[in-house]
Amino acid sequence: MAELKKVRNIKPGFHKGLWFGLINAGLETATGGRTPWTLRNHADYSQTRKIAEHESPKRDFITEKTLPPRDRLASVFYASTAHEEDQPVHLKVADTNVCITTCVTEYQNPCTRFCPAGVYEIAEDDTGKRLQINAANCVHCKTCDIKDPYQIITWVTPEGGAGPNYQNL
Ligand code: SF4
Repeated sequence: MAELKKVRNIKPGFHKGLWFGLINAGLETATGGRTPWTLRNHADYSQTRKIAEHESPKRDFITEKTLPPRDRLASVFYASTAHEEDQPVHLKVADTNVCITTCVTEYQNPCTRFCPAGVYEIAEDDTGKRLQINAANCVHCKTCDIKDPYQIITWVTPEGGAGPNYQNL
């Protein structure tokens, strides 16, 4: 908490413009965050903008020849994450209907992109589309709990000993 208090004003300062943000960041860094004020910040999920608010991109990054996309499942392998297959799912989604109705039209299912471990997938079968949660891949970053625009995902503590096991940090 003490470490976070030192940097609490740096990011919110940039909401007031680049130059204000740079000067503010310098001041906050030089004083070690001892300024007597705390700038207002926003919850991360509330800053996610809807698809309709974006213009179409000028470049097509998907079909252009660029570097191949990062292989998320290979990264999960390096994280050596492991969960007992029969343990209760530790990612609670309060209403999975939202995923295939409102969310897909408003945000195009951002959980399928911001999760670094490919935990969330929109699967399709004879019964239609549904959210598939590959909870065993989770690397416990909690991004989904923080960034989900509807705040219907709750990350709860999994069984003891489960999760990533980074060897070379
Ligand atoms: S905690 Fe991180 S890795 Fe786990 S499901 Fe959420 S976003 Fe994915």
